[in-house]
Amino acid sequence: MDLGIRGRRALVCASSKGLGRGCAEALAEAGVDLIMNARSPGPLARAAEEIRAAHGVKVEEVACDVTTEEGRAQLIAAAEGVDILVTNAGGPPPGLWSDWEREDWLAAIEANMLTPIMLMKALMPGMIARGWGRVVNITSQSVRAPIPQLGLSNGARTGLTGFVAGTARQVAPHGVIVNNLLPGIHATDRADALDAAVAAAENITIEEARARRAATIPARRYGTPREFGAMCAFLCSEHAGFIVGQNILLDGGAANLTM
Ligand code: NAP
Repeated sequence: MDLGIRGRRALVCASSKGLGRGCAEALAEAGVDLIMNARSPGPLARAAEEIRAAHGVKVEEVACDVTTEEGRAQLIAAAEGVDILVTNAGGPPPGLWSDWEREDWLAAIEANMLTPIMLMKALMPGMIARGWGRVVNITSQSVRAPIPQLGLSNGARTGLTGFVAGTARQVAPHGVIVNNLLPGIHATDRADALDAAVAAAENITIEEARARRAATIPARRYGTPREFGAMCAFLCSEHAGFIVGQNILLDGGAANLTM
């Protein structure tokens, strides 16, 4: 299917690895020029070069921390005039409700709620002026099916979800389409780190930890960054203009929900 976005320009945050990389790759495959971002310049440069070589699109690299005001200022300057924004950042750490102090909450809210909101605030006016835009926020399955030990993520990302629910409907009349993509368990470095922690705690191999977790998913496997990226690219496509303010769960059926 031709996604109808060849020649458009996208900012994909936190995209040298994992789900962000999957989104960058799928957009590049559709002919979209990219601004890619991550904190570590080395892996970012390698990812950008691989995408240029594979898809022949222009790729600009901005190495910075998207969760800081300075990092966002750098990204916003580089991304002036973009048609597509994909927001992403690392997730907050797990823990227990009674352990988190005000500072932990402020960090989670800054990274996983205010960062995407500030990027939308900066970049959507240009999209509105040009009458076309797409925003995809990478959130989490925890927004629909909260994970007890991820209280910081549940809270901060639910705040973003509430903001998007209203805002997506305010910008849609101007041709700007905003949706959230909710990953369940996907095979990325983050998933490996979680499996390694379980393996160490329970004295089992990482393969065993992974197999146990995969067994809890009706699809009986982890999702892939490629599958995730394909859905992201579709939501950024010409065909997605009637999908407004949705929370799309990609979890292999893990959350047992009717809606
Ligand atoms: P990942 O494999 O660890 O990749 C994270 C990517 O983001 C890397 O490119 C990393 O590069 C970059 N990054 C992290 N923090 C950043 C920051 N502050 N500023 C700029 N770039 C940053 O992670 P992932 O699995 O793709 O997860 C992406 C998001 O989805 C996270 O918020 C995660 O909580 C959420 N999620 C993931 C899963 C899953 O199963 N994978 C499930 C639910 C939710 P640098 O380290 O060089 O910055």
